[in-house]
Amino acid sequence: MDDELGARLKSYEGRAATLTGKGRDPVNLPMIRHWCEAMGDTSPAYTGPCAIAPPTMLQAWTMGGLAGHEGRAAAHDEMFALLEEAGCTSIVATDCEQEYLRPLRPGDEVTFDTVIESVSPRKTTKLGTGYFITTRTDVRVGPDVVGTHRFRVLKYAPAGAGPKRPPRPRPVVNRDNAGFWEGVGRHRLLIQRCTACAALRFPWLPGCNACGSPDWDTVEAGGEGTVYSYVVMHHPPFPAFTASEHAADAAGPYAVALIELAEGVRMISGVVGVPYDKVRVGMPVRLEFRSYDDELVLPVFRPCEEAAV
Ligand code: ZN
Repeated sequence: MDDELGARLKSYEGRAATLTGKGRDPVNLPMIRHWCEAMGDTSPAYTGPCAIAPPTMLQAWTMGGLAGHEGRAAAHDEMFALLEEAGCTSIVATDCEQEYLRPLRPGDEVTFDTVIESVSPRKTTKLGTGYFITTRTDVRVGPDVVGTHRFRVLKYAPAGAGPKRPPRPRPVVNRDNAGFWEGVGRHRLLIQRCTACAALRFPWLPGCNACGSPDWDTVEAGGEGTVYSYVVMHHPPFPAFTASEHAADAAGPYAVALIELAEGVRMISGVVGVPYDKVRVGMPVRLEFRSYDDELVLPVFRPCEEAAV
């Protein structure tokens, strides 16, 4: 099928997405410390007089903050305007890749250039039809490239505008987590337990985070929990995830919660029986199993009576 838009988008490959940018701050210990605290990374490489910056912070040194980036090149905005006009009004980040050529150290002042590296042919995904756009940012200190950051987005026309709501995506079941989903099918929420050191873990993994042992059994969660944290998803609109009990909010926002189970492990799940804007940190919740269609059962959490507003 002829894709005139695709051909026009392709012509942006290789063009600058950012005029040479300058990091807002030199590489510095306070930002490194905040990052390590947020990530729970206690590596000694990131503290002390010989500290380096965690490699995965690469993009952080190029970020514009709330004020946004200065110096975005015209090609970037033109390309996005073309996509918007064609109905590709939604965007989702799909993945990023980083390459590190040498460590960054406190005092390094970074500059960076971003180019539109590639535009895919038109693709149809569960979210909708559009184009994957990959940008590549080369981060430099002086003349030397110290790392590259590739970032891929899907800019698309959302699916699901039709009358039939698409089904929820299926969980990805593999040999490491098959036992978990088998339990869910029997309305049991199973937590892995290391048989060497008794540490509980979730999500399911082949080995113990605490001692490395590959041997495990399971314990069944009692079902009590609290909302440890949550986010509310507004964009992109994703009809399959609209709370089924609020069918009136066709593509309304929904809350995604990190639930701390009474056993101590945390899991990401939905909170049902309460509007998305009433979910609160610390809210006591109780496990239930909900059927979303003929095949799909998921563990979800409902606020305990006294917490329901
Ligand atoms: Zn263990």
